[in-house]
Amino acid sequence: MAPVSGGPTESATGAGPDRPCRLTVLGATGSIGSSTLDLVGRNPGLFEVVAVTAQSNVQELAALAKLHRAKAAVIGDATLFKALVDALAGTGITAMAGDAALVESALMPADCVMAAIVGAAGLKPTFAAAGQGRRVALANKECLVSAGDVFTSAIAKSGAELLPVDSEHSAAFQALAGADPKAIDKIVLTASGGPFRTWTRAQLESATPDQALKHPNWSMGAKVTIDSATLMNKGLELIEAFHLFPVGVDALDCVVHPQSIVHCLVSYKDGSVLAQMAPPDMRTPIAVALAWPRRMAAPTDKLDLTRLGSLTFEAPDEARFPALRVAKAAMRRGETAPAVLNAANEIAVAAFLERRLKFLDIASLVEDTIEIAEKQGAVCAATCLDDILAIDALARRLAVAQLSSY
Ligand code: NAD
Ligand code: MG
Repeated sequence: MAPVSGGPTESATGAGPDRPCRLTVLGATGSIGSSTLDLVGRNPGLFEVVAVTAQSNVQELAALAKLHRAKAAVIGDATLFKALVDALAGTGITAMAGDAALVESALMPADCVMAAIVGAAGLKPTFAAAGQGRRVALANKECLVSAGDVFTSAIAKSGAELLPVDSEHSAAFQALAGADPKAIDKIVLTASGGPFRTWTRAQLESATPDQALKHPNWSMGAKVTIDSATLMNKGLELIEAFHLFPVGVDALDCVVHPQSIVHCLVSYKDGSVLAQMAPPDMRTPIAVALAWPRRMAAPTDKLDLTRLGSLTFEAPDEARFPALRVAKAAMRRGETAPAVLNAANEIAVAAFLERRLKFLDIASLVEDTIEIAEKQGAVCAATCLDDILAIDALARRLAVAQLSSY
C-alpha cells in the first residue's frame, strides 16, 4: 500500500535519471531542514537547491542559501527583508519575505519540496507544494492532523507524490511495501516514552520546560520535543497515520519502546509482523523520502543489535500521559476535531515553554478547548483549506481565553 501518491517517479531523487533533483526546503533552518541540507551537502551532484525558507534567522538562512547555491531565500518575517537583502548582497540569490513569499517559494519549479515548517504555519506553503503535482516530502505533521482529508484530496487531485518523513510513518511506508490494506491487521507506531516515561503523576505535576526539552533519544525542534514528553506527539502521529494509510482507526495503535530502534510494526492477517529498524537519526527517514524508490547513503550510526542487547516494549499509560487519550478521542470524533486539537496544543505548548501553564495542564487545556469548540458547533466538516484555517484561528482564540483559568 502506497501512501497518497500519483505514482512513482523514475529516478532516485524525484528528478529525471540524468539530472539532479531540484529541491526546495521549507523550514531550512530547523532540525529537519538542516538535516535535509546536511544530506544534500554530502551527496554532491544529486540535488540542486531551488529555495530555502526560515521564519526569523536571517544569518543562518543566508549562510545556507550561499552554501547550497540556492536560487532564492525566503524569510517569513517581512520586517527582516532588508536584513536578508544585505546578507545576500552580491550573491545573485533572490531575497524574498513574508507569508505570500513562502507560498511563492513552494510554487517555484522543483522536483521535490521538503515541507519542514513547524506547526500550522506550514499549511499554506505545503498546500501550495502539494498542488504542483510533484514530490512532497512531508515532515510537517500538522497538514495531515489539521487538514487530513482536505490535504490528501489536494495531493490526489494534483497527482503529487506524498512521502512521509516522520520516522514512524516512513517506517510504516517501508514495512507496508505496497500491501493491500485488507491484508493488514494492525499498524503499531512506537514511542520512546520521552524524558518522563518513568515519572509518577505527582512528579509530572511539577515538570519544567528544561526537563521536558531533554529528550533521551532524538534531537528535534522544541515543539515536537515537548509533544514527545506529553505523548501528544504519538496522538498526532496516529492521526497522521489514519490519513496516510487507509486501514481505519481500529487498526492503528502505539506502543512505548524506549530504545527508539524499531519505529513501526506492521502486522499482517497471516501473522507476519514487519518492523522497520534504524538508529534514531532523522537523516534515515529524510533520505528515504528524498531517494524513494531507490536508496541514498546517510551518515548515520550503523545498527548493532549485539551492542544494544535488548529491545523492550510497554503499553502507554494514558493516566500519566492524558494527551494521548485526548488525541485518540479527537481522531475518533473526526471532522475538525483534530484541527482544534492541534491549534489548542500549539497554544498550550507555547504557554508551557513560557512557564504560564503546568505540564499536565497542556492536555487539560486541549481537552477543554475541544469541548468548547464542539458546543459552539466548530467541530464540523471542512471542505477546503480556508475552512481549516478559520477553525484553527477560532481554536487558538478559545485556547488563549482559557489560559487565565489555569
Ligand atoms: P524546528 O522548530 O527545528 O524548525 C522549524 C522551521 O520552521 C525553522 O526553519 C523555522 O524558521 C520555520 N518556522 C517556524 N515558524 C514559522 C512560521 N510561522 N512561518 C514560517 N516558517 C516558520 O522544527 P523541526 O523539529 O524541524 O520540525 C519541523 C516539522 O517536522 C514539525 O511539523 C515537526 O512536527 C516535524 N517533525 C520533526 C521531527 C524532528 O526530528 N525534528 C521528527 C518528526 C516530525
Ligand atoms: Mg515521529
